[in-house]
Amino acid sequence: MMKDIRRIAFLVCVFAVGAAPAAWARSRNVIVMIGDGMGFSLIGLSRNYSEFVLRIPPPLALQEALRLGRMGLVSNRSSSHLVTDSAAAATAMACGVRTSNGSIGMDEDGRPLTDIVELAQGQGLAVGVVTTDALSGATPGAFTAHAASRRSSGIIASQQISKRITVLLGGGGEDYDLDAAKKAGYFVMTRKKDLLSPAAQKKNLWLGIFSSAEIPYVDERTPDTPSLKDMTRAALGKLARNDRGFFLMVEGGRIDHAAHANKTPRVFDEVLDFDAAVGAVLEFVKAHPDTTLFLTADHETGGVGLTKKEAGEYYPTAEDFEKGRGLHWLSKDHTAAPVLLVGVGADAASVNGWHDNTDLFQLVKDAFGL
Ligand SMILES: [Zn+2]
Repeated sequence: MMKDIRRIAFLVCVFAVGAAPAAWARSRNVIVMIGDGMGFSLIGLSRNYSEFVLRIPPPLALQEALRLGRMGLVSNRSSSHLVTDSAAAATAMACGVRTSNGSIGMDEDGRPLTDIVELAQGQGLAVGVVTTDALSGATPGAFTAHAASRRSSGIIASQQISKRITVLLGGGGEDYDLDAAKKAGYFVMTRKKDLLSPAAQKKNLWLGIFSSAEIPYVDERTPDTPSLKDMTRAALGKLARNDRGFFLMVEGGRIDHAAHANKTPRVFDEVLDFDAAVGAVLEFVKAHPDTTLFLTADHETGGVGLTKKEAGEYYPTAEDFEKGRGLHWLSKDHTAAPVLLVGVGADAASVNGWHDNTDLFQLVKDAFGL
């Protein structure tokens, strides 16, 4: 009822002054998707790889997101380094504050910051994180915990359980006390099929741990390993049952790892695994127009490029992609390059121009009208 009154007031305001107020409850649900290390060149080359090697006709889901939504760029320096790490970048996005590399949900003086998940929980929203990295890794960690070091993975894991994050799906089993999680009310899953089990649907809290460390790379998975799309789809179905809406962060965590190793075509398979999850989210957004997706990367990793000189006057073959022929990597580390930001759905229009990664916190708050 209150929401209806606010919506009517919003429309009156729009007609009266011709512009929407800066912050309004336009979105019932907000989904943030982060391709860890997913720079522009990786997106472009993964598209080429999909079309010319895997023979999958375009478009990628990422292209569909761009067609439907609004696009901007994101700068990502941390307070300590021009080249950020995933911990500082995720803290900037989750908490709106630039901090030092390595910090998880804390400012550079070690003070805990309020994150968007805490704000959402305070409003009665369901909250979730889904990743192919360890759930206790830097990106999901900064959205759900506070620690001076990203290496404090056991502390991050125990905070996620004690904060009763509604849905936790990913890897990192060795950091989690599964018995303690069960006692805290979690339904614990370890295999892909558990995501669809009737018993899971009856429980309020989900902890899905599908590997002892990170979820295996696409080319190393078993039938028991869920893809990022499998986990994302299950999380959306679960979270959407909350009356008051939800916040979900989805990370393609292994893009970064494959890019650190300069490993092709593995890195492209990981981008395409992320892309498939984007497709699942777009389906959800189309079916639920009161939802906003913000899709971005935390930084670029590797800085890969394909040059004409080595590739010659031809299209790269599957073997070229396999062996990385004609591909040049700038580094085995992160770069300072800006990354992509796309908004799709109810509050997409707030994506406009060249943002700082700290803006994402405000974009999500504004989308929820917090
Ligand atoms: Zn990295």
